[in-house]
Amino acid sequence: QAKAAGRNTVRFFDPEMQAIATANAALASDLRQAWLDNQLQIEYQPQVGADGHMTGVEALLRWEHPERGTVSPAQFIPTAEETSLIIPIGHWVLESACAQLAAWAHRPERAHLGISVNVSVRQFRHPDFVDEVTSAIVKSGIEPRKLRLELTESLLADGIEVTIAKMGSLKAMGVTLSLDDFGIGYSSLSYLKRLPLDQLKIDRSFVRDILTDPNDAAIARTIIGLAHSLGLGVMAEGVETEAQRDFLARQGCEEYQGFLFSRPLPIRELEALIDRLAAEEVT
Ligand code: C2E
Ligand code: MG
Ligand code: MG
Ligand code: MG
Repeated sequence: QAKAAGRNTVRFFDPEMQAIATANAALASDLRQAWLDNQLQIEYQPQVGADGHMTGVEALLRWEHPERGTVSPAQFIPTAEETSLIIPIGHWVLESACAQLAAWAHRPERAHLGISVNVSVRQFRHPDFVDEVTSAIVKSGIEPRKLRLELTESLLADGIEVTIAKMGSLKAMGVTLSLDDFGIGYSSLSYLKRLPLDQLKIDRSFVRDILTDPNDAAIARTIIGLAHSLGLGVMAEGVETEAQRDFLARQGCEEYQGFLFSRPLPIRELEALIDRLAAEEVT
């Protein structure tokens, strides 16, 4: 029957598609359960300035599933977006980051640190987003600039004016705004200059082969130059070697994040690292 109908016929039952849909549904239902059971955690990855001192950390979600094992955010964030679970989860990450900043505010060796929080498109688009950020800041009493929201170029896909207005409200509050994974998306330069940003983050994919691929080196150099000519700071992500860091430093990059400095760490390990670094400083 299907054969006779020819190749242009829509197949209502495609076993392969069906398998994918089932797997997605299972992941979605596990994620919902994980959220309800408090199985999600936040790790923090250090960010380092030009002088080698820690400037802040990025909050990164972690999911350790009893049977699936470690599920990467690259895998479950899209599911969280599709199911809208990203709204409560993202809100929790935001409030946790602010609570952490508040706890650090009266500890001399920690008070200068900022925390970067990834904001998904779905979250940013939500009508309550700006209010949620405001209330997280007010409740925790933190200095707004220490909260660094990481947005991605995909925000620009819908309504540039709305995006600019929303970013403007966040900016007016004093929050720091970074554009994450810069260079892999589709933002045009004319948009970029209109966005009230503080910082560009060079995507990891350009940093990886920066020493061997002249194109990646040129792109990284261009992003650093672009950031500076727009009056923005620039941070490189995925820095794994001294040689990569040195190359970026020579191009004028001023902040770094990557395994060279530290992997993302559970909060206790991060705090132990901060204390250890502070102690080394004194001695
Ligand atoms: P991202 O925001 O670009 O985060 C940086 C990613 O690079 C993290 O992956 C981090 O572990 C990884 N990374 C850092 N340094 C290195 C390095 O030197 N080498 C290598 N190979 N990787 C490095 P992770 O934790 O797997 O997160 C993946 C993505 O998931 C994040 O990319 C972000 O887009 C998303 N994500 C994570 N947490 C959240 C969250 O709380 N909310 C939202 N909306 N998205 C999140
Ligand atoms: Mg990020
Ligand atoms: Mg990034
Ligand atoms: Mg990235």
